[in-house]
Amino acid sequence: MPSLFLSLLVTRLRARTPASSPTRTAWIILAFLLLSSNWVVSSGSPQKALHIFFVDVEGGQATLFVMPAESLLIDTGWPGNDGRDADRIVAAAKKAGVSKIDYLVITHFHTDHVGGLPQLAARIPIGTVIDHGDNRESTDAPTVQGWQAYRSLLAANKFKRLTVRPGDKLPVEGMQAVVVSADGAVIPHPLPGAGQENTVCKNAEVYPTDQTENVRSVGALITFGKLRIVDLGDLTRDKEMELVCPINKLGQVDIYIVSHHGWSQSSSPALLNAIAPRVAIMDNGAKKGGTPSVWDIIEKSPGLENLWQLHFSDEGGAAHNVATEFIANPAGPDAGNYLELTAWPDGSFDVFNSRTAYTKHYPAR
Ligand SMILES: [Zn+2]
Repeated sequence: MPSLFLSLLVTRLRARTPASSPTRTAWIILAFLLLSSNWVVSSGSPQKALHIFFVDVEGGQATLFVMPAESLLIDTGWPGNDGRDADRIVAAAKKAGVSKIDYLVITHFHTDHVGGLPQLAARIPIGTVIDHGDNRESTDAPTVQGWQAYRSLLAANKFKRLTVRPGDKLPVEGMQAVVVSADGAVIPHPLPGAGQENTVCKNAEVYPTDQTENVRSVGALITFGKLRIVDLGDLTRDKEMELVCPINKLGQVDIYIVSHHGWSQSSSPALLNAIAPRVAIMDNGAKKGGTPSVWDIIEKSPGLENLWQLHFSDEGGAAHNVATEFIANPAGPDAGNYLELTAWPDGSFDVFNSRTAYTKHYPAR
């Protein structure tokens, strides 16, 4: 509800009712409550916000998108640990006032992405699970186990299933999400506004073809108003090349959810040159992801304002970690701190570190 309307309402009530009228007081209180609600945000214009929680699942993925109407979770973290990852996801959902996960994308069937699903399904209702199709990696025991648990939950009607292909739109309300990769295929044509030549492709390394579930990852380009976000799960560099070389099919983004926890098999220079994010957020663990060579590629990417990390990377040491205020969990005992991004349709956004309560604002461009 526009604040202008509320101001007019208050002004009219002032004019028509005596100063001590209980009706007038009630209307003013109502107007105040509406003004202080989620409708009115820091940019000064009445817009609804998108909240994204980067849940710390110790080097797996769990990214919760909360829109005004619906919620979307990308991956569920690890199994075991008495439901540690599921508990952290549910805690983030509670903070956002969400009591059901409307849509859950399982990017691929590796255990750090689908492993936490049975524990999560036992704690919170899940509407529809979106996947790339059946598991394609039958030689890895934890992957097979994760896939079997997924099938058991499906058979028990714990949620609906939707298998997507590149070019499909996710049915979630409140933001646009286009599938750009799934089951080893990528979009054949550039997205609207993309299609530029990528100069870094000419001298690019040739990467080995990945044979695992990583290359099957469901990747999505998410748009919320003017804001563009890309999440490619654990998509590997060989497949990135198909997305951004020789033509950049993705276009530039504001937010890059760093693929594969910042591990060496993803985030090629060609990808980073193509998407040129303002902000990158890396869901690494202390001992997983955050590879120094990848950290360098992200840090040197054109136009980057900040890289944020869920963890201090032990492998990165002093030279390959960002300043402490941009890290949710520094070296030492782990507290499961999260990062939260709040975005507005005009393209402005905040990133909040739950450990320090430090917030950085990024104005609309
Ligand atoms: Zn992973």
